[in-house]
Amino acid sequence: MYMRRDLANRVIRRIDEHDLVRLTRKLVEFRSVNPPGEEKAISEFLEAEMKARGLKVEALNTGGGRNNVLGWVKGSRSRPALLLNGHSDVVTPGEASRWKSDPFKPVVRDGKVYGRGAADMKGGLAAMIIAAAALVEESREFRGSVAVLATVDEEVGKIGARRFVESGGIGSFDAAVIGEPTDLAVATAQKGMVWVRLETSGKMAHASQSDLGVNAVHKMMDLTTAIRKRLQVRRHRLFGRTDVNATVVEGGYKVNVIPDSCRAQIDIRLVPGQTCAQVRQQIENIVAHECGSDPSLKVKWELFETLEPTEEPASSPVVRVLTTAYKQVKGEKPKKWGFPATTDGSVFVAEAELPITLFGPGRISEAHSVDEFVEISQLVDASRVYALTALNFCGV
Ligand SMILES: [Zn+2]
Repeated sequence: MYMRRDLANRVIRRIDEHDLVRLTRKLVEFRSVNPPGEEKAISEFLEAEMKARGLKVEALNTGGGRNNVLGWVKGSRSRPALLLNGHSDVVTPGEASRWKSDPFKPVVRDGKVYGRGAADMKGGLAAMIIAAAALVEESREFRGSVAVLATVDEEVGKIGARRFVESGGIGSFDAAVIGEPTDLAVATAQKGMVWVRLETSGKMAHASQSDLGVNAVHKMMDLTTAIRKRLQVRRHRLFGRTDVNATVVEGGYKVNVIPDSCRAQIDIRLVPGQTCAQVRQQIENIVAHECGSDPSLKVKWELFETLEPTEEPASSPVVRVLTTAYKQVKGEKPKKWGFPATTDGSVFVAEAELPITLFGPGRISEAHSVDEFVEISQLVDASRVYALTALNFCGV
């Protein structure tokens, strides 16, 4: 992991703050809101932009014009290859009038770029593109390859990441850096996620003669409480405990009618060390136990979304090169962190066992919020760290 100082300096000098801010603002201007999934225009822009900057670009169809865009900088050999990953969709800005300025007309104030997606994660994506572009002229100087992948649909079903894995594209890479907002901490772990849908059924009756009916709402309340209390939680040094939350409950008709049906959803956030299969088994055991002790309990349930937690050891090459690059840029060790949400990286680990680590400008607390912003100094630092990480990973 030796790197020539002159090469590193040349690459860093090519990363221009104004260019980076301009590209970040340009990306924020696209209303790539998901749902419904309006990434077509930004995908076309990213394709043209990466081409114009000298990357070898492939547009990868995921359906409906929602293209993943992959831009390569190839060194003298194809491997090792590092993937710099960011998503091009954003969540809704909500009520635009609650923002100090239009969420899709980004402004710069006090050294920050404001707009929907500034932190999550068009700023990170811009920093990755600028970093890769800074390597284009130096591609004879390093061995492996680096590519920026802008995925669609991270905020909903992660279709972009899933298609990239299914199509075999992921097989070209040895590791990935996910540019989600970590406030420039190196996040080696992510929580996992299990979403549970439950439905209890009962028997309608007049509330004044409730013993003639079976109250499906009561059954659901008891059941969700049993799951919340009895599911085995674990602790993790970066995350604390497993989260278990009933988040949706629907049922009933009228105040004086015993309801015959109730639906609920539970959101469970796993910490590394737990698996989705273990959680499924535990829920199965809890439901079986509840049904055993209450013959009138009728319940259907399913897991409708699962993503495993991830954790990359500190000795992993991608963690080591990223940490080294951070020290080269900032002159100190990076903070370590656990990323609380799931990302495209969760898919890359679960489906392709790709080593990943997360590192990006902006704070997760800004993601999905009103008046979202990213600090320009963090954009520049992130871009420099990405470029040196790529050089370190590829080898010179
Ligand atoms: Zn994100």
